[in-house]
Amino acid sequence: MSVAYSERQRAMLQEMGIRVWASPVPVPVAASVPVVEAAAEKVVAPVVVAAPVANPASVSAQGIALRPSGVAAMDWDALRAAVSSCRACALCERRTQTVFGTGHPQAQWMLIGEAPGEQEDRQGEPFVGKAGQLLDNMLRAVGLTRGEAPAHEQVYIANVLKCRPPQNRNPEPQEVAQCEPYLLRQIALVQPKLILAMGRFAVQSLLKTGEPIGRLRGRVHEVPGLPGVPVVVTYHPAYLLRNPMDKARSWEDLCLAREVMTDV
Ligand code: SF4
Repeated sequence: MSVAYSERQRAMLQEMGIRVWASPVPVPVAASVPVVEAAAEKVVAPVVVAAPVANPASVSAQGIALRPSGVAAMDWDALRAAVSSCRACALCERRTQTVFGTGHPQAQWMLIGEAPGEQEDRQGEPFVGKAGQLLDNMLRAVGLTRGEAPAHEQVYIANVLKCRPPQNRNPEPQEVAQCEPYLLRQIALVQPKLILAMGRFAVQSLLKTGEPIGRLRGRVHEVPGLPGVPVVVTYHPAYLLRNPMDKARSWEDLCLAREVMTDV
């Protein structure tokens, strides 16, 4: 799909220091593209990634049901019901509600973030508030939306975790291990042509790596165990609100994702 920009849109993107996506250049998976590390990216300890869990226990040692069995075979309705009643980790204790995901169930683009924040926990939807508005603007610039649209224009958005960590702390490895099967099932049901992983935690959790985003940008990855689905990494919109100078890099990531989509 080509994206036509008005002069006004081009001027706006230029104003933001953003390069407008131009002619498609196919980028192969695992292609080696020079990486420009974000100078302003926070220096933080890498996420402690949970060891891959092929079939995490759905019953605790005490025999307490943690997560419904059969997640890997659930349809959308069953999966949504399983998440909304899930008590597989301590995050269930303080949530207002679970945040399942939103968008087209057969979207070509799947966006994956970290976990619900305060507003998401209240509203039950991922990426709301100012970060959500910025994400919507960025999607609009490449011809995508989370609103009603055909599958090739509408995205599906989900988080690694479906419940809000208190004070927005980093998720614990055990919480990720318990919640991950839900996300993997969402990916399997959507069957996206491309995954855009947003933010350090989502990126490192999905790719099972401790590498910072600055070293992972500019290349196409795959989720271990999910071959054939290209993954492009970028900054979380909330990070971009705090570090607007990196909006241009984020735009470059979207351009890379668009280029990948022309080749799949
Ligand atoms: S975060 Fe995930 S695993 Fe933990 S209670 Fe919520 S839905 Fe269940």
